[in-house]
Amino acid sequence: MNRARLLVFNAVLSVLDYRVPADMEIEIGSVVLAPLGPRQIVGIVWEADRLPGEQVADSRLRPLIEVLPVPPLSAPLRRLIEWTADYYCAPIQSVARMALSSSAALKGGGTTSEYRLSGLEPERLTPQRAVAMDALQGEQASIRELAEIAGVSDGVLRGMLNAGILEAVTVDLDRPYPRARAQFAVPELTVDQQAAADIFVAAVNGGKFAPFLLDGVTGSGKTECYFEAIAAAIEADKQVLVLLPEIALTEHFLRRFETRFGVAPVLWHSSIKASERRRAWRAIASGEAQVVVGARSALFLPYARLGLLVVDEAHEVSFKQDDGVRYNARDVAVIRARFEACPVILASATPALESMQLAEAGVYRKIDLPARFGGATLPEISIVNLCKEEPERGRWLAPRLVAEMRERLARGEQSLLFLNRRGYAPLTLCRHCGYRFQCPNCSAWLVEHRFSQRLACHHCGHDTPVPNACPECATQDCLVACGPGVERIADEVAELMPEARVAMATSDTLNTPERIADFVAMAEEGLIDVIIGTQLVTKGYHFPELTLVGVVDADLGLEGGDLRAGERSYQQIAQVAGRAGRGAKQGEVLIQTRHPDAPVIAALAAGDRDAFYAAEAEARRDAGAPPFGRWAAIIVSSEDEAEARDAARAIGGVRPRLPDIAIHGPAPAPMSLLRGRYRYRLLINARRSSELQRVIRGWLDPLRFPQGVRVAVDIDPYSFV
Ligand code: ADP
Ligand code: ZN
Repeated sequence: MNRARLLVFNAVLSVLDYRVPADMEIEIGSVVLAPLGPRQIVGIVWEADRLPGEQVADSRLRPLIEVLPVPPLSAPLRRLIEWTADYYCAPIQSVARMALSSSAALKGGGTTSEYRLSGLEPERLTPQRAVAMDALQGEQASIRELAEIAGVSDGVLRGMLNAGILEAVTVDLDRPYPRARAQFAVPELTVDQQAAADIFVAAVNGGKFAPFLLDGVTGSGKTECYFEAIAAAIEADKQVLVLLPEIALTEHFLRRFETRFGVAPVLWHSSIKASERRRAWRAIASGEAQVVVGARSALFLPYARLGLLVVDEAHEVSFKQDDGVRYNARDVAVIRARFEACPVILASATPALESMQLAEAGVYRKIDLPARFGGATLPEISIVNLCKEEPERGRWLAPRLVAEMRERLARGEQSLLFLNRRGYAPLTLCRHCGYRFQCPNCSAWLVEHRFSQRLACHHCGHDTPVPNACPECATQDCLVACGPGVERIADEVAELMPEARVAMATSDTLNTPERIADFVAMAEEGLIDVIIGTQLVTKGYHFPELTLVGVVDADLGLEGGDLRAGERSYQQIAQVAGRAGRGAKQGEVLIQTRHPDAPVIAALAAGDRDAFYAAEAEARRDAGAPPFGRWAAIIVSSEDEAEARDAARAIGGVRPRLPDIAIHGPAPAPMSLLRGRYRYRLLINARRSSELQRVIRGWLDPLRFPQGVRVAVDIDPYSFV
């Protein structure tokens, strides 16, 4: 090769041609450094005929600078990048950037200095040094990272280094991870589990694309089953990627993994340290990392020999990314498995309707685990009709639910109250003039957080202290909280059952791995009587003493009514119900609602999952919604309202007119202001067979907009705000 076409990470240019110096060896997929003006940029050598670009004369080409010391990106990964860009109407360089997501890793191996406490105990410590000494027990990282962990300045730590309290250690950037052992602690599987595991193991050894939907009730042992597939991959020296929907779940997963395989897996998510990210990236690219557990961003990493993908809790909406490249990791995982020619397992107790449909159509092979492990039975579900069984004035828990909780407390068992609303109250208003506290940057109310005494926006992070007087009419002490959040429920429980030990489980309280681990340990040891939590506690956990689940407001998820509201409510309530009675004791679930006849609630009460899916499918078919029809959204935003509106109108003005595609809008988005940007939206509804992406590209590509305008395309959207 004497010339090379590169995919480069530049917002405007994405494809550039270069000359390959005679003494340089490159291949397709090589990651290289190239000159661009006075700068040096990173690029990936690509098949020239797969990237459009102008044919520049040889004489005008500048030479590449060097090949970076990492393995070339494999053909399956290059095809995945192309597919994702194409399907989600995203710039290909933005997708490729997700594969090279550690710039440090591209610099190659070597050593670096990390720092840790030396063990020296000085007589006297400044308060800041004392704080740092406490926080840094067992930590080892760069000065910058340690400063972040300890919450002190770099200067404090450098002072400690000079004083000998910290010491430097030289670490190999590519030091190997401990090896997972396939046979470390092999469980005895039930007959159903073994049958499922056998199928997965055969698929791993078969080395062909094979998509599975592992549909098993909560507590049936889905994890144990796919662990056997992981064991098979480890034995065959193939790599495994397990995607989890939430970082909060990884802690629990790591422990189970360690119990089964003797070591922790390799972790990947947005909050791992830069040094860990670099090490993990390099081990993934070299093939040394055996099992990677991560959030959706782990999906685009350059695995050397991927042999299995698992998407756990595959129905979770958090697999859909809603900024940058708007992709659905569940769906892209299946595509990656196809390109890599390996099996993929989507595991869930409440599969998405789309997945059910694909299983029905024979695209996915469905594997069922119909029974809970160890003879535990599914909990009994009953409805509390709030119209008939009203809570006391100013309270949110119906007498029957409170009575059941008291009974659990007397028996030394646990209760879990589920309410998917952080904070104390979702709306605060002035009793005197009716003023409502709204976010200045978003079309959203500010949520009161009573513990921190602040009003916060859950969309942009804006927050402000709760004032004494109304900012509008200046009346003192006139603010009232409307509606409940988990903090308010915690207050109510404290008043009703002062002797109960209550723990809140939300992203405000469980925001570090240590706090999550503490919470889980306390719950498992029976040191908590009542857990009050948001969707964070609906999945993954296994607390043997938990025998009562109360759903505080089952109607909450049905508000707003986007196309998946029913399904999402069903999944959430079914998942949280699945936390009850996982041990030897029977579990019970009380669902508080004002709409006992709503299809979701009725199906939950009757335990009739099939009826729910059938009704939901019917409704979606009528609406031309997925999986029967397709949706896409075009979201136009700007800090300037008129600019956003004009751009949206310009798009609307040249809309294509096609028989199988309906285009609605432009109209202000339901969240017409978000993080300081005004938003307009067009919604596109198309037949399944239509060439939706091609139409959208042909429509938008010729248009030009002012600098401040952002136009985002969302294919198969999950969020309709
Ligand atoms: P799911 O993921 O389907 O909700 P889990 O895999 O979490 O179910 O299993 C539920 C509980 O039962 C876990 O504590 C798990 O360790 C235990 N369990 C499941 N199958 C077995 C088995 N074959 N042997 C021992 N324990 C099991
Ligand atoms: Zn806001």
